[in-house]
Amino acid sequence: MKTIAHKIIESHTTAESVTKGSDVPLKIDQILAPDDDVVPSFLQFETLGLERVQTELMVCYIDHNTQQMGPESANDHQFLQSFSSKYGIHLSRPGNGICHQLHLERFTVPGQTVMGADSHTPTAGAVGMLGIGAGGLDMVAAMAGYPLYLKVPATILIQLTGRLPAWTSAKDTALEVMRLLGVRGGKGKILEFDGPGLKTFSIPERATIANMGTETGATSSVFPSDDITRTYLRNQGRASAWKEIKADPGAVYDDTLSIDLDRLEPLVAKPFSPGNIERVSAVEGRKVDQINIGGCANSSLRDLAAVAHILKGKKVPPEVSVSVTPGSRRIYIILSQTGILAQLLQSGIRILEPTCGPCLGLGQAPPSNSVSLRTFNRNFKGRCGTPDAEVFLVSPETAAASALTGTITDPRNMADTSPRFFVPKDIVGDLDSPDDMIVSPADHPAAVKVIKGPNIGSIDVPKTGDTSFHSRVLLKLDDDITTDDIIVAGTKGVPLRSNVPILSELVFEGIDPTFAQRAKQAPNGTIVAGDNYGQGSARDHAALCPKYLAIRTVIAKSFARIHLENLINYEILPLIFSHPEDYLKIDRDDELQFENVYNALENARTMKVKNLTKGITFSVDLGFTARQRRILTEGGLLNLMRREIRQKQSSGCESKG
Ligand code: SF4
Repeated sequence: MKTIAHKIIESHTTAESVTKGSDVPLKIDQILAPDDDVVPSFLQFETLGLERVQTELMVCYIDHNTQQMGPESANDHQFLQSFSSKYGIHLSRPGNGICHQLHLERFTVPGQTVMGADSHTPTAGAVGMLGIGAGGLDMVAAMAGYPLYLKVPATILIQLTGRLPAWTSAKDTALEVMRLLGVRGGKGKILEFDGPGLKTFSIPERATIANMGTETGATSSVFPSDDITRTYLRNQGRASAWKEIKADPGAVYDDTLSIDLDRLEPLVAKPFSPGNIERVSAVEGRKVDQINIGGCANSSLRDLAAVAHILKGKKVPPEVSVSVTPGSRRIYIILSQTGILAQLLQSGIRILEPTCGPCLGLGQAPPSNSVSLRTFNRNFKGRCGTPDAEVFLVSPETAAASALTGTITDPRNMADTSPRFFVPKDIVGDLDSPDDMIVSPADHPAAVKVIKGPNIGSIDVPKTGDTSFHSRVLLKLDDDITTDDIIVAGTKGVPLRSNVPILSELVFEGIDPTFAQRAKQAPNGTIVAGDNYGQGSARDHAALCPKYLAIRTVIAKSFARIHLENLINYEILPLIFSHPEDYLKIDRDDELQFENVYNALENARTMKVKNLTKGITFSVDLGFTARQRRILTEGGLLNLMRREIRQKQSSGCESKG
């Protein structure tokens, strides 16, 4: 009696049994690589000496950093396109759409696995595919043919019953999941959806829910692959990709939650967390300055058709700036063919290119001290590009209703608008060549020269020193520190992602602008944090840049999954307080002494750390898997892979982990 997650993991592992908490190697069928983080990853792959990526399919999407405000982004694009051509990677050109929307449309396959260097890769779970976000170095390993090592998560069943009332939608369901689980409730778990309410959700709507599951800290979210999935894939011209996937009757779950859709009402995530859930009716009337509709959570045809229906024949007041971003170029074309685009434009909104854009602070930064309503999936402080702006996450319906009033508005109050609206058929056959902005790899890779502009800098990071070392606490942080807090995104950070030495100057800039300088003056530094350190984006740079600044350890009450792996891969020790109360006994600038760390990493479960400043000793947990211990003792994942691949090549076989 198996769950969907269990079936997919079992069919992709060589482990003898798939039991919760066991560390299993997971074969990766597809890799999704968004542009913003992957230039260093591609440079790292180059150093492995392999001629082609080893997975069945890999797609690089230029979707985050498309604005060519200076030569840096365009140089990155040239590098990514030439590298992809040479090494066997498909490349989606800038303007083609947002990676998760495009991957859902063009490449997802029920029952397969996709790993992405992006935390919202579980969006693929909408069609019964197991999508897992990971860091850049884990992606490099998958490119080299290694499996993804996964601690088998618990599985939570989320039973959907009933039918959503008018003017509530998939986003409200996703926000209800956030209300039930919060930003930590999904950690170490896969969310699996089932129940009679499923049949009321189209694939793009399931994608909204799977996408937002990431914000609970879940490893993945997955839906059954049913007749609705079959129709969706057929409409995409990919009928042969379909197969049925469902849990066995009586499948055993670790926990079950129920959502009665009939009882849902429009919800909102208030600043500054996607887990800060409230009813829209409770915050109604609050003045709004800006509204952004789009992002990988809510940029489907269905969502934009709902927005156009609400705005049709009406005007947005001049005090509110409203933008709409289609999720893909194909959606954009269908909007224009069906007249929906004209409806949107006539209402006074702005249409943006199909990219991530405002979601990660690239454009549409709201005014100072303002309120911005967004259909995105994150509202961390400052992510929008304006540190003192308040961002509320809402459904497309709430966003559109609010766009007409200039205040937060419950869409159920639109008495003059019928809740029934026209959704164009999501049929790819309407386009002559749906993939003509996806460039295939070269037939003759040897002839392709990888183009490296001047901003594509070194990725060398300092070697770690002795097994015993002295360390200063450089920063003490609270709970739920995000990767946005560690390394800024937006117009400041994203164009610098290819140049680690320069980007490293911005580590923790929003919290303590002196951090980078102090870290350089005190090598082997320690960061102390509360619970859930490193939540949010998969951002490899949030480990790579601290590594460049010679950070040696992070001691926290707990870590977010992807960031924990990223720290290990870059040989930064992620240590967990054995006794959480010890967090209170340590302060910034305390001097610490670590002894015989490599010995402890051999097999110890805990390690003692001396706080020389306070004259006390405290214990930290070393709950690492055998492979994680090996990565840490062999100088990080890249060094370990180089060694293993060299050994295999010298013994005459190809790399296969
Ligand atoms: Fe792009 Fe935002 Fe989605 Fe990340 S969360 S992939 S930045 S749209």
